[in-house]
Amino acid sequence: MKVVDRSTKWKVELPMRHCIYCRTDKDDSEFTLEHVIPQFLGGAYAPDFLKTRDVCRKCNSNLGLFVDASFEKNWVVSNWLRYAASAFYDPESPVGLPLICMGVCDLNPPGLPEGYVCESWIGPLGEQVYWLRPHDERLFGFVGGNPRTAKTVETRAYFLFSERSHKDMLRSWLSFEQAFEGRKIKKIMCTEVQGANPADIGFAEPDELDSIRMEYFHVQCSGSQTRNNNFSINVHFDHRFLAKLAIGVSYCLFGKKVLGTDYDKELQKGLWHRMGDDEPMVRGRPMFAEKVDPAFNKLIGFSNAVTIAILLTPEGVSLNLNIGAQLNWTVLCTPKDILTAEDTSKVGHGRIILLVRSLQKGIHLDLPDYLAHKGEIALIPELSEILRRADKHKEYLRSL
Ligand SMILES: [Zn+2]
Repeated sequence: MKVVDRSTKWKVELPMRHCIYCRTDKDDSEFTLEHVIPQFLGGAYAPDFLKTRDVCRKCNSNLGLFVDASFEKNWVVSNWLRYAASAFYDPESPVGLPLICMGVCDLNPPGLPEGYVCESWIGPLGEQVYWLRPHDERLFGFVGGNPRTAKTVETRAYFLFSERSHKDMLRSWLSFEQAFEGRKIKKIMCTEVQGANPADIGFAEPDELDSIRMEYFHVQCSGSQTRNNNFSINVHFDHRFLAKLAIGVSYCLFGKKVLGTDYDKELQKGLWHRMGDDEPMVRGRPMFAEKVDPAFNKLIGFSNAVTIAILLTPEGVSLNLNIGAQLNWTVLCTPKDILTAEDTSKVGHGRIILLVRSLQKGIHLDLPDYLAHKGEIALIPELSEILRRADKHKEYLRSL
């Protein structure tokens, strides 16, 4: 009889995975699905090859809150994304529209706690919203302040309808309902609305302090007083985000071999960069680096949409990100010296991914086909349809 030692059978080898952002090996259960193109840009509708499971839960959450948010909550980017969402508004199936941040205003409502600011937001029909929230000097460039604080510390916001709200009351109502979703905000309605109960859309009963502040906002904001608003913009707001995007896209296209190269080390430095660290040698063009030729913006970008172009350049594989044919970024993802002929054939003459989050649309095309459409040489029906949808209600929106 043969004796078999079964003890080894009980050694359970847990599968380990390597996170492409923090570069740590962790248990398989620590990993979640990562959209390399974040959701706020419409990443949920991007093709599957731009999603990976090789990102740990901690990076997914922390980098989302601070690196993605630094980009998304920059004043210029956040407002462009909001304008793009509004362009597809259809009065036949009304939805709430995002508020636009107008910066920190000079109002000083009664009982404003020490270290708090009064941030002014504006609704789709000129509705005024004032959010009293703690100021975080380290995150001065974030609209809405520190995203983690906004989820955990209860603050208050005061909502006022505008004179134009009656033209499409439901739109104001729905926009107020969805405003500040996911943040711990006590919402107070300052305008009386006949036949409707603000509690139905999540508004709270005002307490004594709220009543005093409501009176204050009515006096301060009813006429045509001039307001001074302050915007803070961190000119480096996009650096870490571009490095993260480059790591993610490079990995999704070419796999593990992109990790550990000299250029990858620079991208790592870029992703984890702290003020005072050496500047990483990330190749590309952040938003404030130099002015982009408007003709290029118009050619590569698309009205009210986000485009991501993946291109072969003399340096390697680069990514161009464009929002609304207005804002533009470029970053080198993979240096040429590690690319094989098979790798470059994946990129071909360039690829483009066009994302329209509010229409839940993601379109993946070869770049030459996209450019043929832009030049009206060969139209692509799906792209024409997006333009048509944006045009459809232009007149209606203008009439408000
Ligand atoms: Zn990680």
